[in-house]
Amino acid sequence: MGLTVGVDIGGTKIAVGVVDVDGTVIAHDQLETPATDPTLIGDAVGRSVNALKRDHQVEAVGVGAAGFVDAARRSVLFAPNIKWIDEPLADRLEDLIDLPVVIENDANAAAWGEFRFGAGADVDDMLLVTVGTGIGGGIIQGGRLDRGAFGVAGEIGHLRMVPAGIRCGCGQYGCWEQYASGRALVRETRDRISAGMAQAQPLAALIDGDVTRITGQMVTEQAQKGDPLAIELIADVGRWLGEGIASLAAVIDPSVVAIGGGVAKAGALLLEPAHASFLRTLSAPVYRPQATLRPASLGNDAGMIGAADLARAR
Ligand SMILES: [Zn+2]
Repeated sequence: MGLTVGVDIGGTKIAVGVVDVDGTVIAHDQLETPATDPTLIGDAVGRSVNALKRDHQVEAVGVGAAGFVDAARRSVLFAPNIKWIDEPLADRLEDLIDLPVVIENDANAAAWGEFRFGAGADVDDMLLVTVGTGIGGGIIQGGRLDRGAFGVAGEIGHLRMVPAGIRCGCGQYGCWEQYASGRALVRETRDRISAGMAQAQPLAALIDGDVTRITGQMVTEQAQKGDPLAIELIADVGRWLGEGIASLAAVIDPSVVAIGGGVAKAGALLLEPAHASFLRTLSAPVYRPQATLRPASLGNDAGMIGAADLARAR
């Protein structure tokens, strides 16, 4: 089979690409997500795919969508950032583009992309942890994407870390992504600035005292310049990250844990504390082979490339 199209539908942007059998993106398009009217998303994706089809012989389309995808990989059951409830996305797209369509959760699609062509290409068992605003991820076991009974496996950001902890958008309390994410990094940084900590002065100076302007990227850049508080704040996120990975390793036993997402751009500032806390928290660490933690390698294209490959393997 030759070329397929991968589509990655996020809350603000949609990436569309023609991808070959080696995972190489040979044509690319990017659109704004019309998040207020979900029917417009299908129309926008349909137009983009049809335009790419004119120049490339495409055989199928894979779509990664930020939400719960049904076991048949046809509909989005629920999407937290897009007004989709039981959205029959595959049917809608197949009507528009006249090609077979497969839908997958966006983080699962990214995990598949990293497994086939990125950080996990040399192993059969991989966990992807995407540390962005929240935590996403996907599980590959024995060379297969673990979708679970209902299609919603791999929602690792909602692993409970702290009983009665910080409230999560999912309706529960104490989920992992409330502690090991960009959102947590921003929250903790704002707290330090608002508390008037002397060490927070360099960060406060960046934002004229307006804590709403703090972003995770700002903290990362400040840490890379050597700011001790920024380094400590990222290390804290790393420690939470390593603890959660240790719990997941106790369950699924991956050989590689690939770590991606915007916060992972902090590199060793995040990964070294994550690795140390992973080893500290791992059950019986002396008596077991240990998973390797490494950076994900496909960046923002992982979901698009993975979705395209899932369409090929459908
Ligand atoms: Zn949650």
